[in-house]
Amino acid sequence: MARAPYILLPLVFTALLQGQSPFRVTPPPPSPVPVLASYPDTPAGKLLKEIKDHAEVVSRVEYLSDMIGPRLTGSEHLRRAQRWAAAEMKKLGAENVHEEAYDFGLTWTRGVDSARLLTQNGIRFRVDQLAWSPATKGAVQGELLLVDARNLEELKAFQGQLKGKILLRTNPFDKRPSLPRRQGGDMASYQTEQAAMTQLLLDEGALATLSMSGRKNGLSFTTSGPGRDPKNPAIAAAFVPQEPYKMLLRQVASKEPVRLELSLGGSFSAKPVQAYNVVGELRGTELPQEVVIIGAHLDSWDLGTGATDNATGSSICLEVLRALQATGLKPKRTLRVILWSGEEQGLLGSRAYVEAHKAELEAIQAVLVHDMGTGMVKGFDLQGREAARALMAQAIAPLNDLGVRELPLRTMNGTDHASFDRAGVPAFAASQEPVDYFEGTHHSQMDYPDHLQPDQLIQGAQAIAGTAWELLNMPGRLPHGIVARPARTAPEGPTPTR
Ligand SMILES: [Zn+2]
Repeated sequence: MARAPYILLPLVFTALLQGQSPFRVTPPPPSPVPVLASYPDTPAGKLLKEIKDHAEVVSRVEYLSDMIGPRLTGSEHLRRAQRWAAAEMKKLGAENVHEEAYDFGLTWTRGVDSARLLTQNGIRFRVDQLAWSPATKGAVQGELLLVDARNLEELKAFQGQLKGKILLRTNPFDKRPSLPRRQGGDMASYQTEQAAMTQLLLDEGALATLSMSGRKNGLSFTTSGPGRDPKNPAIAAAFVPQEPYKMLLRQVASKEPVRLELSLGGSFSAKPVQAYNVVGELRGTELPQEVVIIGAHLDSWDLGTGATDNATGSSICLEVLRALQATGLKPKRTLRVILWSGEEQGLLGSRAYVEAHKAELEAIQAVLVHDMGTGMVKGFDLQGREAARALMAQAIAPLNDLGVRELPLRTMNGTDHASFDRAGVPAFAASQEPVDYFEGTHHSQMDYPDHLQPDQLIQGAQAIAGTAWELLNMPGRLPHGIVARPARTAPEGPTPTR
C-alpha cells in the first residue's frame, strides 16, 4: 500500500478529499492508561517498572523535534538525527552500531510557498508544496480552473483550456467512483495512467495544481510527489487547507474569473544520493543467531518537527535499550534495533533492509514497529497470521493489565513492518490509540511535542519492551510464511504511510 505510489498526482487524492482514507477515523477520546499498583518480580516486570520510573522517551522526542527538527530523507537534518541516534545507541550499550546505505534518488528541500488572490477578496492563504514536486517558475499568475477529472479520458476533455492555468484538482464533493475501482484496481495501470495525465498537463502548459488538504481547522498536509526519479513527469503541486480550498471552489462556481498568484519554492539536489538505516543490537546469550527486531522510522515530514511521526517510535526503541541497560537484563536471542529512513517515501529503508538481508530473514523471530504517534498500545495487528496468535498472546500476557490485549487478525500496511511481512516474516505494527494522529499531527504542521501524552507514550515503550522481551526469551518460534491476500489494489487516496 505504501510502496511505489509516489507517481500519484494530487488529482488522485479523491478519498482524502472525500474523507475516505482508510486511516481516516474520528478518534474516540483516549482511554485512560491503566496503572499497576505493583510490578511482578520477573524480568519483564523489572523492565516495565524501570520504564515507568525512569523513562527518557519524552525528552528524546523533544530533542529530536526541537533541537534537530524535521528530518526529510536525504536531508542534512536526518543525517544529524542518524549520527545522534547511533551515538545514543552506543551510550545505551548497543553493539555493532552501524549504518546501512541504499540508493534513494534526488533529495528535495522545501522553499517558501505563498498564494494570494488577484481577484475577489484578494486574500492570502496557506499553501504547502507537495514534497518532491517541482517549483513554480518564480511567482506565477494564472486563472484558476476546476479540473474534475479522474482519468486520462476525462482529463482529455480539458485539452485546449489548460495553458497558463492554475488547476483546482477534483471537486471534493463529487462521489463518483474513482479510477482504480473502475479499472478493477490494478496498481500498475493506475500509475501508468497517472503519469500520462501529468504529462498531458505539462504538454498543455498548465502552471500548477492545488488539492485540498482534507484536514479541518486550517491544517495542512504533505506527502511525496513523483520527482525523486527525474524520469517521472511531475508538475508543481500544493495542498491548500480545507477552508480556503472551499472558498476557491465557491468562487469558481460563481463563474466569475478567479486569478491568483502562486509561488512554490521546493528544490531538488543535482544528483541522486544514498539514504541510510541506523542499526544496533544486543547480542543474545543463548540463541544469538535468532533475532527480534524492534524499529521505527527516524525520517519525518517537514511541516512540523516530526514529533509524533515518528520521533515517538524512534525514542521508544532507544528507551528499550536504556531499560535493558539499566536493569542489566540479557536476552537469550539477539535484539536488533533499526531506525529506518525513507519510510515516508514508500517504506524505502525497510524494503532495502529486507532486500539486503534476504538470506537472514529466516532467523528473525519477529519484527515490532511503533508508528502511530503518542497513543497507548492496545495490541498488535496479526496481519492474517492466525498461526502466530498463541505465541503473540504469550508475548503480550505480562502487559495485559497495562491495556495491551488486542491481537486482531487484520492487516495494516503503511509502515515498515509491511516490508518484512510481505517477505514472509512475522512482523507486526503496534495498534495504538489514535490520540490526535490521523486527524491532527500526522504529516501536518501541528506535529510538535506539545501533542505528546507522556503517560500514553511511556505505556507504549513498556508495550514494545515487554513484548520484545518475551519474544526474545520464549522457547517457541513464530511461524514464517507469506500470507495469501488479494492482490494489492491501487489506493483510493494518497498512499497512506503512517
Ligand atoms: Zn510514520
